[in-house]
Amino acid sequence: MNATTAEELVAEATAGSDGDSTPSFSLELSQDQKDIRDWVHGFAADVVRPAAAEWDEREETPWPVIEEAAKIGLYGYEGIAQFFSDPSGLQLPIVNEELFWGDAGIGMSIMGTSLAVAAIFGQGLPEQMGEWIPQCFGTPEEPKVAAFCASEPDAGSDVSAIRTNAKYDEAADEWVINGQKAWATNGGIANVHVVIASVDRELGSRGHAAFVIPPQTKGCEQGAKVKKHGLRASHTADVHLDDCRVPGACLLGGKEKLDERLARVREGKKSKSQAAMQTFESSRPVVGSQALGIARAAYEYALDYAKERRQFGKAIIENQAIAFTLADMKLEIDAARLLVWRAAWMGRTGVPFTNAEGSMSKLKAGEVATWVTERAIQILGGNGYTREFPVERMHRDAKIYDIFEGTSEIQRLVISRAISGVQVK
Ligand SMILES: Cc1cc2nc3c(=O)[nH]c(=O)nc-3n(C[C@H](O)[C@H](O)[C@H](O)COP(=O)(O)OP(=O)(O)OC[C@H]3O[C@@H](n4cnc5c(N)ncnc54)[C@H](O)[C@@H]3O)c2cc1C
Repeated sequence: MNATTAEELVAEATAGSDGDSTPSFSLELSQDQKDIRDWVHGFAADVVRPAAAEWDEREETPWPVIEEAAKIGLYGYEGIAQFFSDPSGLQLPIVNEELFWGDAGIGMSIMGTSLAVAAIFGQGLPEQMGEWIPQCFGTPEEPKVAAFCASEPDAGSDVSAIRTNAKYDEAADEWVINGQKAWATNGGIANVHVVIASVDRELGSRGHAAFVIPPQTKGCEQGAKVKKHGLRASHTADVHLDDCRVPGACLLGGKEKLDERLARVREGKKSKSQAAMQTFESSRPVVGSQALGIARAAYEYALDYAKERRQFGKAIIENQAIAFTLADMKLEIDAARLLVWRAAWMGRTGVPFTNAEGSMSKLKAGEVATWVTERAIQILGGNGYTREFPVERMHRDAKIYDIFEGTSEIQRLVISRAISGVQVK
């Protein structure tokens, strides 16, 4: 380093590693990213938020809102492809944060499809992507949803315990799938289900494969619909697979690849991918950004309220106890966003997650959302505890982010193993 003045130091610090004037690090969003953020924010403010309380009470999929989202191109194949193609990786988390700022239950009914899409995109052959991803969304005139079914009654955190099995019927070139899936977002109402099944139970999670269940396939039925604490506009249900036959081409990645992978595992070599875990890892920062949207909504509401509400002759924000809580809420949200953006950028640019940065981002954002929404209720006092004000719904919605897509404990397990190399139990 040759710089001697402050100006020279700054110039050196902002120069690229090869000495040109391109900044090597920037948190400034591009005009495209800002435009899309503002467009989604407008939809969240004008369409999603006004509908939030109603669909939370109805506990039903808000099809009219999904139709609106499809009409403007926010819900659909092209929209997701556009968000995903952003080379920085930030567009998808930005879109999710804005949408879930509007409402998380409706947000999940719009974004729940993307978990199945991520599985097809991550594991499917190009022709499988071309065939099934558009069918996950339907058309703007007739939108559909999709479901990703990994969890089972006895296999939540422990995906290796999955009992749903897939057997290959060579004569018919069909897979026959049997089992019961639990907690599937859009389960049973989906046009396309992606199901994780075991093709060799002895191999645990390394014997799993992902299958597409095409629309109206016999033997794929919705089981009990789950009544939930939060995210109530999003449909969650069991899915029963009873001698469910799908064409051989519905195995994501194809049979040849699966046979090769299983042979490697049986020889004791490392398998390159584990179907369910791969899907979860790539989607964690996006899930974190949904939690951020809820946290930001609750923080903003509490901030406005604290400026308005007067007790003891002054606005309650004039008390340090309230103002410092709001300062901490903002601080935690911004810190979580940096972790989310880092992980999203790493995922998109292929930087390896050596310290489980994807898990870090989801863990932090989920816990921040749960804490911030609880504090928001406290700042609103009695009003915060009623359904007349939105923060109690936001708190109910936030809690799931400590649980699904890997509980907080499982995220800590993944991170601690990654940083230590120790097989922490
Ligand atoms: C609203 C909702 C939507 C969902 N959507 C989907 C979906 O679309 N598709 C899907 O496949 N699944 C879905 N799930 C399921 C979700 O992913 C699971 O609930 C989650 O993985 C946790 O599994 P579990 O509920 O069986 O809890 P368990 O695994 O039984 O865990 C119970 C408790 O034990 C802890 N624990 C477990 N193992 C360990 C360990 N080794 N060390 C420390 N603590 C541990 C957990 O952290 C947790 O606190 C959804 C769930 C909900 C509630």
